[in-house]
Amino acid sequence: MTNKKSKSWNKATSHFQKTLGACLLSSALVGGASEAFAQNFDVEVKSYHVAGQVWVLTGVGGNVTVQIGDEGVLVVDTQYAEMAPKLLAEIERLAPGKIIRYVINTHAHGDHTGGNQIIRDAGETIVAGNEARDVNETFEPGAEVIAHENVMLSMATASNPEIPFDMWPTEVYLGDQYDLYFNDEPIELLYQGRAHTNGDTMVFFRKSDVISTGDIYVTGGYPFIDESNFGHINGIVDGLNQIIRITVPREQQEGGTIVISSHGRLSDEADVVDYRDMITIIRDRVQYMIDQGMSLNEVLAAQPSRDYDGRYGNGFISPEQFITSVYNTLSE
Ligand SMILES: [Zn+2]
Repeated sequence: MTNKKSKSWNKATSHFQKTLGACLLSSALVGGASEAFAQNFDVEVKSYHVAGQVWVLTGVGGNVTVQIGDEGVLVVDTQYAEMAPKLLAEIERLAPGKIIRYVINTHAHGDHTGGNQIIRDAGETIVAGNEARDVNETFEPGAEVIAHENVMLSMATASNPEIPFDMWPTEVYLGDQYDLYFNDEPIELLYQGRAHTNGDTMVFFRKSDVISTGDIYVTGGYPFIDESNFGHINGIVDGLNQIIRITVPREQQEGGTIVISSHGRLSDEADVVDYRDMITIIRDRVQYMIDQGMSLNEVLAAQPSRDYDGRYGNGFISPEQFITSVYNTLSE
């Protein structure tokens, strides 16, 4: 058993280093892994109004969610350091003169946190003030960067390369939820347990009626289960069900609560239901095969995702990678 465990750990680690370094780290820093994933940062940042006070910015890396209101700007995820100046320019265009108060990281990967330092340094933290924030209000340079504690642990213990202290969160939370009230809107940070990583947060803007999912939900392919950061297929399924619980469709099962996927297009509940069904069906097939005593190679040969590969098999994660992670995490 010990032998089997350490083998699958090594496999997960080397798989991670080989293929996913660019997801975790700025491509300039990943050395040998960078050639296959060399990023072209000569891409414009574009913004789209989502609903209420919420916008989404695209570029290179995870979609960036921005909430803008009278009290300032809140930013969810920061793409790469190379993209951060362009993100800042677009935020300034959307919210002239407004100050970035909060940055939230949905998880630790470098395509979501690489711009942390630059975005944070452009902002200011509110350090005192009464409820109305109009008495004794003072500010410290640098926005507050909030994430689940496991994001901090992942960044603090990264060794190849090390993640500079200035990129780490400045505020971490424990437990299932962290609440903010900002720009006259309740904002729920919802921890997802072991899912894409063990530090995933989804951000629900209750008044704007928008949820930003992080890498739990990607529209263009199979999800990446980062085994080296303790991801698990069951947490992905739970996270998708959590999105479905929160979203309320408007008419004919369309519209209503808008879902910002971390890679891909905007969605509504029906899109997430389709995706959840697909993931759940594949997970259950693999579980059945494990129960039949099939080895990983036998499961891969049986192609339990074949009927979905046409639509989802050409994303960042190949069918083999996805099935392998499903198998490994269900076999723990
Ligand atoms: Zn990620």
